[in-house]
Amino acid sequence: MDNKHPMYSRELAIDHLKADLINALPPNAQISNVEFEGPFVVLYSLNPTVLMENGDVVKSLAKTLRKRIVIRSDVSVRREKEEAKARIREIVPENAEITNIIFDDELGEVVIEAKKPGAVIGRSGTTLREIAREISWRPKVVRSPPIQSQLINTIRYTLTKDSDKRKNALLNIGKRIHRPRVIRDNFIRLTGLGGFSEVGRSCMLLETAETKILIDTGLNVGARDPGEMFPYFSAPEFDIAQLDAVVITHAHLDHSGLVPYLYKWGYRGPVYVNDATLSLMTLLQKDYIEVAERENKLVPYSQKNIRDMILHTITRRYGEVTDLSDDVRLTMTPAGHILGSSILHLHIGDGKYNLAVANDFKGKRSRLLDRANTRFPRLETIIMESTYGGPRDVMPRREDAEIQLVKIINQTIRRGGKVLIPTLAVGRAQELMIVLAHYYKRRQLVKVPIYLDGLIAEAVAIHSCHPEYLSSYLQDQIFNEGQNPFLAEIFHPVKQNERTGLLRGEPAVILATSGMLTGGNSVDYFKRMAEDARNSIVFVSYQAEGTLGRRIASGVKEIRSIEDGRMKMMRVNMDIHQIDGFSGHSDRGEIMNFFRELNPKPEQVILMHGLRNKSQSLAQSLSKRYHVKVKVPYNLETLRFK
Ligand SMILES: [Zn+2]
Repeated sequence: MDNKHPMYSRELAIDHLKADLINALPPNAQISNVEFEGPFVVLYSLNPTVLMENGDVVKSLAKTLRKRIVIRSDVSVRREKEEAKARIREIVPENAEITNIIFDDELGEVVIEAKKPGAVIGRSGTTLREIAREISWRPKVVRSPPIQSQLINTIRYTLTKDSDKRKNALLNIGKRIHRPRVIRDNFIRLTGLGGFSEVGRSCMLLETAETKILIDTGLNVGARDPGEMFPYFSAPEFDIAQLDAVVITHAHLDHSGLVPYLYKWGYRGPVYVNDATLSLMTLLQKDYIEVAERENKLVPYSQKNIRDMILHTITRRYGEVTDLSDDVRLTMTPAGHILGSSILHLHIGDGKYNLAVANDFKGKRSRLLDRANTRFPRLETIIMESTYGGPRDVMPRREDAEIQLVKIINQTIRRGGKVLIPTLAVGRAQELMIVLAHYYKRRQLVKVPIYLDGLIAEAVAIHSCHPEYLSSYLQDQIFNEGQNPFLAEIFHPVKQNERTGLLRGEPAVILATSGMLTGGNSVDYFKRMAEDARNSIVFVSYQAEGTLGRRIASGVKEIRSIEDGRMKMMRVNMDIHQIDGFSGHSDRGEIMNFFRELNPKPEQVILMHGLRNKSQSLAQSLSKRYHVKVKVPYNLETLRFK
């Protein structure tokens, strides 16, 4: 693509922009530099408080130029870090209880973690403004997380250590985004590369005359045939060198599992995700390749590829508008599925066409999250998941599922057994924790230690760093009642070497990954617990065809496995239960209801992320009831929207 756009036109573009900006701003703003940084135009100022206090000037300028403008202090005026730290501690009253001060060189930002954020902000923001004036770093205040996340610290470390690489990456991304428009044709087409008429390996390519965007880059974790694990990257439409952006809806591996693989094959463009999604997907990707290595399975990419992904990731919060290119604008809104999960709204060609992508969403609120967003500024087509779109896909009431789970645990514990709950590390596990904490508090659940194996404990830490995305119910519990269910006394993170002791010990509940017994620790627990009839296993998530979980759930009583080169036969004597009501997906009724509430109503629906017969049945109902055009494409089919 580069050689089509001569360098001089780019340089010219930014030179013009610089001149326009400097002319339009008050002279005492003292602009020292203007730079592209990913989708933003960044102004460096020797006197940034002038611009921070004249927000309207900047806003109107951004509107005229149709660019997102960010103001940062010039590096030369920022106070030295140790000095700045000391100054912050002097300015902020002691009762704020500052727990950490973290500098972000790239953003010129200082994050102040405090137990009482309000005291750092001060009345109508006076304390915060004083800090900004004094140290020339932009202060940002967050509540101290009750559990520190190692993963978030690792991401911070990567960004700081390789800040030069990061800066360069963002500059190149910016140049590409702000390149002058050359093609005047108008078209929009979408090609399914994975997850169409199936579940797993979600991936689609959105193309306009100007832009190519990959939406989700998933890995089918349950697939045995490697040909079914990866999306169709060999499709003629897909050329990694032509790709402008990657957007990820949420962290589950069937949506984000192959993003680092793109970097292995030379992609150097941006990945847009919600900030919680970045942490969660990095956690799951790292774990995926570690487990694959340990179990001698195919390892699709390396830790270095994951680091490259982090360096090219641009995180966005719900509601923030981002220019992916000259003709595509992205806004993420809550999907209610897992922490950070997003329904994407894409505004294409100056709003000529508007597309929403609801890849995994929950129509009803859960304990963990509020329900999916249904309001959009404009909407012509929605692309929706249909996992539970079949006519018989009616989930039990949430409350019934909760009571059933508590009953199984109580019975198992009373007879001296243990309960194994294989679960996805992200989403379902945290939902179950809140449920169990709730019933424990009401004394309906027996007092029993609940062990959180490896990954789940770290995912909980990431949740506790993002209370702003949790349900209003949980936020109320945490902030108003002072009761964080994640911190309840019944929960215990468990380390690898504690497992044997735990299994020999007293009755307990164990939450372990993976949810479908496809690998990871839940398989180990299962093998060591299956023969004891006092124990129970409870499946709480979708069991894909071909997985061990599916076989056990459907009643297979004899399992053969190879251990130390010898065939071993194992009898499954433990109680087997499946509870469907905890799903983070919408059932058929919820999908119909979600569509009814969509505002505005789209003229067209594309169904994906579902087995073909389920999607088709849902398609019939939607078109009959709402007189809307519904399509159920296969992978490799291309649809044209304009
Ligand atoms: Zn998902």
